Amino acid sequence: ALIITDECINCDVCEPECPNEAISPGDEIYEIEPSKCTECVGHYDTPQCVEVCPVDCIPKDPDHVESEGQLMEKYKKLTG
Ligand code: SF4
Ligand code: SF4
Repeated sequence: ALIITDECINCDVCEPECPNEAISPGDEIYEIEPSKCTECVGHYDTPQCVEVCPVDCIPKDPDHVESEGQLMEKYKKLTG
């Protein structure tokens, strides 16, 4: 999964781009629900939130490191 850092400026452009509806406005900055983020595996070649974020504040989450295979499994579960 990816994570949004505190550099987020709450611009809201990432939320509608997420194919898994993993992004939502948190108390102070936008947040990614790790169980729903496939790093866009299954949907796109690149993470769509990273593509649009104007301040590049969406790195890989070191607490949720996943292989391509694990991300694809998550994608299959989410899409049924
Ligand atoms: Fe959503 Fe893809 Fe960003 Fe994960 S990487 S939060 S699935 S847009
Ligand atoms: Fe925050 Fe980047 Fe999403 Fe804008 S695109 S809300 S700056 S994470």
